[in-house]
Amino acid sequence: MVIVGAKMNIGVLALQGAFIEHLNIIKKLNHNAVEVRLPQQLNEISGLIIPGGESTTIGKLALMYNFIEPLKNFALHKPIWGTCAGMIFLAKKIDFDNQPLLGVMDIEVHRNAFGRQVDSFQTDLQIPAIKNGLTEPFPGIFIRAPVVKNINGKAKALSYLKDGSIIAVQENLMIATSFHPELTDDFRFHQYFLEIIENNFYGGVSERIGRSGRSGRSGQSGRSGQSGQSGRSGRSGRSGQSGQSGQSGRSGQSGQSGQSGQSGLKR
Ligand code: GLN
Repeated sequence: MVIVGAKMNIGVLALQGAFIEHLNIIKKLNHNAVEVRLPQQLNEISGLIIPGGESTTIGKLALMYNFIEPLKNFALHKPIWGTCAGMIFLAKKIDFDNQPLLGVMDIEVHRNAFGRQVDSFQTDLQIPAIKNGLTEPFPGIFIRAPVVKNINGKAKALSYLKDGSIIAVQENLMIATSFHPELTDDFRFHQYFLEIIENNFYGGVSERIGRSGRSGRSGQSGRSGQSGQSGRSGRSGRSGQSGQSGQSGRSGQSGQSGQSGQSGLKR
């Protein structure tokens, strides 16, 4: 019998950056939060978050601790979510700098896209994939954030800024966000990621479109779908849905208040 909603082990890469905030939210959402500091811990978890911080540092430490190949393998069959620096680290291509990248997501990312004047700001986002994402704006906190310059292959945009910049993407089991949901009290993005993990864990998300259709689970048992399963097609057909309308146009505001000191983010 499949017990949907059972506790899962969710990892957060704890080499550098804002990993504590993610761990705390995972605990609040009733899952086991695993601080991942060694590659072998990847075997114990069903999904991984790569936090924000400084992507050059995360890349160098990942290289130093022999994480690169194990993480690439992990990405082949288990969900990964990169926030901010995590997004950069997941990307196949970035616009400048020579730094270690996982290169598993078919996206091209522009680092520090907002320049110095407004390098941190908060704005409301419309994210159709999350619960009530069309009607209830999600608080997007951007800290020296990247944007996605190009999406290729199977990668799809999940959300845009008002000016059209792509700031959230999904490619099968991988997601990446320019912003920091872990610095808010809104857990909908974490819940969305947990759903992806849960679907993968219980065996397949292949034709699931929209939140209500939890198809593809029945008859599948337990952990069998966890490794090497091919149902990676994820949420098809979402791109283009998210549009840019309906955002409340606060981008450009520099609402840094309340953010500083909250996290291990190096700015
Ligand atoms: N600017 C950082 C980088 O390039 C990312 C900032 C963040 O993760 N908040 O890695």
